[in-house]
Amino acid sequence: MIKQPTQERDLLAEDSEWDIVILGGGTAALIAAAAVTKHLPHLRVLMVRSTKIGISGVGEGTIATIGRFLHDYLGIDPLQFHQEVRPSIKLGIQFKWGSETPYHYTFGPQFSAANPIQQKLDRPIGEYCHADASYASLASSLMYHGNVAAIGPDGTPILPSYAYHLENQSFVRFLERHTTQNGVQKLDAIVQQVSATEDGIESISLDNGETIKSSLFIDCSGFRSELLGKALGEPFISFGDSLFCDRAVAGGWERNDETYYAFTTAEAMEAGWSWRIEHDDLINRGYVYSSRFISDEAAESEFRRKNPKVTETRVIRFRSGVHRRTWVKNVIAIGNSAGFVEPLEATAIGMMSSAVDQLVSLLSCGTGTRQIHRDVFNDAQRTDWEQCRDFLALHYQPNKLNQSPFWQACRNDTFLGEAQEILDFYSVAGPDFRGLQHRLKSNIFGAEGYLAMLVGQNAPHAAASDRSATKCPDWSQFKNQLNDAGRQGIGMEEYLQRLRTGSVTLPVAT
Ligand SMILES: Cc1cc2nc3c(=O)[nH]c(=O)nc-3n(C[C@H](O)[C@H](O)[C@H](O)COP(=O)(O)OP(=O)(O)OC[C@H]3O[C@@H](n4cnc5c(N)ncnc54)[C@H](O)[C@@H]3O)c2cc1C
Repeated sequence: MIKQPTQERDLLAEDSEWDIVILGGGTAALIAAAAVTKHLPHLRVLMVRSTKIGISGVGEGTIATIGRFLHDYLGIDPLQFHQEVRPSIKLGIQFKWGSETPYHYTFGPQFSAANPIQQKLDRPIGEYCHADASYASLASSLMYHGNVAAIGPDGTPILPSYAYHLENQSFVRFLERHTTQNGVQKLDAIVQQVSATEDGIESISLDNGETIKSSLFIDCSGFRSELLGKALGEPFISFGDSLFCDRAVAGGWERNDETYYAFTTAEAMEAGWSWRIEHDDLINRGYVYSSRFISDEAAESEFRRKNPKVTETRVIRFRSGVHRRTWVKNVIAIGNSAGFVEPLEATAIGMMSSAVDQLVSLLSCGTGTRQIHRDVFNDAQRTDWEQCRDFLALHYQPNKLNQSPFWQACRNDTFLGEAQEILDFYSVAGPDFRGLQHRLKSNIFGAEGYLAMLVGQNAPHAAASDRSATKCPDWSQFKNQLNDAGRQGIGMEEYLQRLRTGSVTLPVAT
């Protein structure tokens, strides 16, 4: 039987002053505003945010979808972006974690069976990396050698799959200008009161005396979650059983003569881990920790011992988890107001981008928004958030190297969700993930992500066999070629200089 559509308000056909009000002025709000004005230009959009409250100002790492999202989807000119925001290139993450030697999670193919450069090798690359995960891809080799792009036969730089490191403040300033130029109306005011009915939010009252009505509200108010969390009371589902960290102490120093690395470093600490992110003039570090296992003062001291050049520090509190639904009635939450997972894989901007993309598509489908639009959105978002939770949890559980109480608890008590099955499969089949291809096809991190953490940490498996470089000449030759290509590559300063003057262009994102 065909289900009849229920009688519902048509959100975008109401006689409101605004079609969409976006609450917030941080990354999430600006990304949402940029996407709506680009793809739904007929809608009247108002942004309300308070410069007195300000933005969180963190959020520097991105994932490999960022180039496609900014330059293709939002239509932001790459040259202008590189000249004004001056992001640096991120080829992946270097983990100093769970293994005696550092290993890399790169954005392109590395350990999986689908690696195109393995023709002469009869097994997936991961199987040759037992106890030594170095030089398994061009990106990894460039990372080992402190370079960013290889040089092709005609002298053209070859940049592997990439993401950006962004300074959050300059990224936000750029998006602020971009959205204003594209016609987004903005108000600087604090939302003091919210009027809600059975159908959702009717209006918001501001500290300047104005009351704003709208058909649809996008809540990008950060951790305050003013509309979804506070006004509508949507429950928050904690990921605390999987992810124990809930604070960070952050600081940095001015770049001196340090190598300008094209990767984020993630390094195990006593009660968590520490990031290092590279910019033109700054090197930023932060220690993400669990307040159950270390005090703020002890974390700060450990952080400073490791990073004596750090100047000022600040402590940031957060909770990992997501609201049960992120689209409720006429409120859609995007960014930290919807949910947050600790920044280990720098997924927040990627998650916002994908939520915005999905929302814009749904607002374009059919003759108006119905409950089915909300259901589709909520199902997809829940899957994405759970995939993030499970993948991050898998970073912690297999680490056998660190022995502090925090790491022992991670080994014993981490809830892995769906990652448990992937770990179980790996423990039997080893790095041959062809059998999981179907399962991981729609996973945000895919086989490569999981293999990076399992092969990199040398997680035990029954299929272990010795295909090391000393035993396999083809593998040894392959590694040597990659080693040479990485060593002879070009460094960050030179590549960025070429990018910012337009003498190289970014490869087309796939
Ligand atoms: C330690 C840490 C590290 C992180 N690292 C990364 C990373 O590497 N990569 C990444 O992608 N993300 C990272 N994040 C996530 C980061 O916070 C987000 O990417 C992003 O910068 C914040 O986005 P937002 O727009 O949701 O929130 P915010 O920047 O907090 O913006 C909220 C906005 O809402 C406004 N607002 C709130 N309440 C009201 C009100 N009542 N009235 C009016 N205006 C209001 C505020 O003024 C502000 O403009 C990290 C987070 C933490 C805590």
